[in-house]
Amino acid sequence: MMWDEKFETMSTDEMQAFQLAKLQETVSWVYEKIPFYTKKFDELGIKPGDVKELSDLGKLPFTVKHDLRDNYPFGLCAVPMKEVVRVHASSGTTGKPITGPYTADDLNQWTECMARNLTAAGVTSEDIVQNSYGLGLFTGGLGFQQGAERIGCAIIPASSGMTERQITLMKDFGTTVLFATPSYALTIAEKAKDLGVDLRELPVRIGVFGAEPWTMEMRREIEERIGIKAHEAFGLTELMGPGVAFDCSAQDGYLHINEDHVLAEIIDPVTEEVLPLGEKGELIFTAIQRRAMPMIRYRTRDITELKRETCSCGRTLLKMKKVLGRSDDMLIISGVNVFPSQIESILLDVPEVEPQYVLIIRKKGYLDALSVDVEARPEVYDLGEEKLHDVEKEIQSKIRGIIGIGVKVRCVPPKSIERSEGKAKRVFDARKM
Ligand code: ADP
Ligand code: ZN
Repeated sequence: MMWDEKFETMSTDEMQAFQLAKLQETVSWVYEKIPFYTKKFDELGIKPGDVKELSDLGKLPFTVKHDLRDNYPFGLCAVPMKEVVRVHASSGTTGKPITGPYTADDLNQWTECMARNLTAAGVTSEDIVQNSYGLGLFTGGLGFQQGAERIGCAIIPASSGMTERQITLMKDFGTTVLFATPSYALTIAEKAKDLGVDLRELPVRIGVFGAEPWTMEMRREIEERIGIKAHEAFGLTELMGPGVAFDCSAQDGYLHINEDHVLAEIIDPVTEEVLPLGEKGELIFTAIQRRAMPMIRYRTRDITELKRETCSCGRTLLKMKKVLGRSDDMLIISGVNVFPSQIESILLDVPEVEPQYVLIIRKKGYLDALSVDVEARPEVYDLGEEKLHDVEKEIQSKIRGIIGIGVKVRCVPPKSIERSEGKAKRVFDARKM
């Protein structure tokens, strides 16, 4: 099922002609309305008229996160406040938050993108949707809310937290679709089990999860525990929020990009050179339809690769590989680059432990050392120290075998790791504490 067949199945030629027209409009718009871009373009000697074909995108300057921070809160807003109808902000875990202002039309576009995302996940107007993303400043909550409203679902705006109540709602209201971060979905599943509720016997049939990296193994785990098909949403505050990209019935580890709204490129993060389709690097987005805060070549720091093909689902929209980490999350342990998701994949294949873990980086002499704390399953924990020691050794050797680094693994007691209600924090850098 598709929400907007015209754009979702458009031929590449037609799509690229559309993109060029929108890009040209946007470049003129930012040059005229946002002094930050006027200055950047002038410094590079670029005029809006220089964008004659899509490949001219490569001539334009990048925008980076600290540009948004430097211009906090509304320095990059292209319209007067009377045209702004909503302002969101990102969690701002590192420093000042990022603000995202929207015009009425920007909100409408975002809603359409989310409606595509949810329709691709199989959500219809018949569904009773429980929205367990935090409702508020975070784009996740309202983004999903609007998309489901556009489709005509019955929505329960539960927001995140009060997990016991989430389960009561699922039971009493007959929730058929759950929206949450993957880590919160896991928290809900665990709480249900503790309360003696088998979610697999409830009407819930689909989950749409996103806002944080999660591995295919985590997807499988959540699907099994809740008895659902788990789908995905990807996005960022700087671009609109969720709905930038979404997975489809193919579930092949790729997401379709709403490329009539955002142009995607991959660059080498060091040389800043644009890489061809299929090569891995940093994802860059240009928002070509937004008016309050368009973005020119925004450096997401997310690592992925692009692929163009007609998907088995029928969509022609450009595909990006599921994001398993940002360059900020990359750990360098004994000279080896490690993403937390690689450790997650390994842990989730060990039956003796729960999918609850944290990674701790410490200084060991001149080197960085990584410790992995993972919760033992209660029945395994009860078997005592010797058994736990065996499990720890097994995980250590798996990590060494697959990633090639030595880590210290500790099986910690059940429920000792803090549960997530939103974006999970799983990496702790003791060097900075
Ligand atoms: P913050 O930067 O404070 O986390 P956002 O909520 O805007 O604020 O987060 C956007 C980022 O979240 C993306 O750049 C990406 O790293 C991550 N993200 C969002 N959705 C997904 C997803 N489905 N898979 C992996 N990462 C995701
Ligand atoms: Zn598809």
